[in-house]
Amino acid sequence: PIPSDPAGLTTYELDRAHVFHSWSAQKSLDPIVIAGAEGSHLWDADGNRYLDFSSQLVYTNIGHQHPRVVDAIKRQADVLCTIAPAHANDQRSLAAKLIADVAPEGMNKVFFTNGGAEAIENAVRMARLHTGRTKVMSAYRSYHGATATAIQVTGDPRRWPNEFAPAGTVHFFGPFLYRSVFQATTEQEECDRALAHLEQTILFEGPGTIAAIVLETVPGTSGIMPPPPGYLAGVRALCDRFGIVMICDEVMSGFGRTGAWFAIDHYGVTPDLITFAKGVNSGYVPMGGVVLRDEIAATFDDRAYPGGLTYSGHPLAAAAAVETIRAMHDEDVVANAARVGAEVIGPGLRELAERHPSIGDVRGLGVFWALDLVADRETKEPLAPYGGASPAVAGVLAAAREAGLLLFNQYHRIHVVPPCTITDDEAREGIAILDEALAVADAAVRT
Ligand code: PLP
Repeated sequence: PIPSDPAGLTTYELDRAHVFHSWSAQKSLDPIVIAGAEGSHLWDADGNRYLDFSSQLVYTNIGHQHPRVVDAIKRQADVLCTIAPAHANDQRSLAAKLIADVAPEGMNKVFFTNGGAEAIENAVRMARLHTGRTKVMSAYRSYHGATATAIQVTGDPRRWPNEFAPAGTVHFFGPFLYRSVFQATTEQEECDRALAHLEQTILFEGPGTIAAIVLETVPGTSGIMPPPPGYLAGVRALCDRFGIVMICDEVMSGFGRTGAWFAIDHYGVTPDLITFAKGVNSGYVPMGGVVLRDEIAATFDDRAYPGGLTYSGHPLAAAAAVETIRAMHDEDVVANAARVGAEVIGPGLRELAERHPSIGDVRGLGVFWALDLVADRETKEPLAPYGGASPAVAGVLAAAREAGLLLFNQYHRIHVVPPCTITDDEAREGIAILDEALAVADAAVRT
C-alpha cells in the first residue's frame, strides 16, 4: 500500500484502476512497478533488478539518476521553478547555446518544446511558413510522434488509425539494403536507387508544392537503418535544387546515441532544421525543440512566428539540459557510446548472429542497434508481421525480462539501445542474457 491512499490500494492496483496507458488495450497491461533506478539499472518494488537495454523509450542517454543532473534540477527548483517563455532565463539561454554549440555550423537558434512530437509540429510549421508551400514528404519507415501533424508525417503503422483528416503528407521509401524495395544488392545501388525514387516522387508530386522533407537521420523505432554514404548528401542536393526545407529528426538519434552528438555528424551534411528531445536532458524533465539554420531563423526576424507553448524552455528542463550536456562533455559520454558500440555491442551481436538462426540481420552504430528476427533466413520472412506481434518475439522479451534484462521491441525486431554511459561489462552481461533468450526465437525458425 502507498501511505497516502486511504483505501490501502497498492501502486499496481491504483495504476490499473486510474492510469490510462499509451498505445495499449488497457485490459491487456501488466506494468512492472518501478521503485528506483541508477545508471544502467532499474529495480522493481519486489527488489528484482533489471539491466536497461531499452533506455526506457530510448532516452536515458546519460543513465538513470546522474547525480550532477539531479542536483542541477534541485538547485534550479530552489531558484526559479518556472517562468513564461517571453522572459529571458539563464538556464534557457545557456541550454540554447550549448545545443547550438554541438549542432552543425550555421545552426544557431533553438525553439524549445516539451517533447519530440511538438518539435516536429513546429519544424513543419516553420518549413511551411518559410517556403509558402504545404506538402510534406517523409519515409514510410519512420516515427515522428503522436500529435496531429507528427503522426501524419510518421510512416509506420502507428499512422493508420490516426488518419482522421487529409494529411498533405506523401511517403517514400528510404534506403534499407537488407529489405530493399529497389532490388539492390549493394549499398551503392541502394543509395542511388533510393535517391532516384525520391527525385521521381518529388517530380510527380510537383516540386513547387513541397515545403519539407522530414527524415530521421538514422531511422530509430522503424528499424535502426544507418543510411548508406552519400544518401543524405543526395537528399540535401534535391532539397537545394527544389527549394525544399530539409528537416532531420534527431529526437532519438541525437545527443550521443549514435556515438556522435548528432547522427548527421557522421554524414557531413547540414540540414535546415534539426528536431531533438529525449537525450537532450535524458528525459529527466520533459524537453524537446528545433535547431534552426540561420537562413530559416532569418525568415522570422521581422515576421512574427505564429507558434508557442506555455512551457517552452522550462527552467527545470533547461537546467537539466545544461548539466546533462556539460556532464556528457566532461565524462566523454559520446565517445563512450561510439567505443562500446564498435568494440563490444556490434561484435557481440554479430557473434550472436553466427549462432542464432533467428537473427536475419544485425545493424547499427554507437548504442543504437537492431536485430532483425526472421522465421527463415532465405526468404527473410519477419518473425512477427509488419505492424504486429508474435508469440516467438514476445517469448524472447519475456525470457530476457525474467533473467533481468529490459529490451526495446517493435514488431519482429529487438533493439539494443542501452544508455550511452553503459560499461563494457554491463554490455557483455546483457548480450549474454540475450543469447539465452534468443533460444525462444530459434525454436520458431522453419528448418
Ligand atoms: N521523432 C522520433 C524520431 C522519435 O523516435 C520520437 C519518439 O520516439 C518522436 C519523434 C516523438 O517524440 P515524443 O514522444 O517526445 O513526442
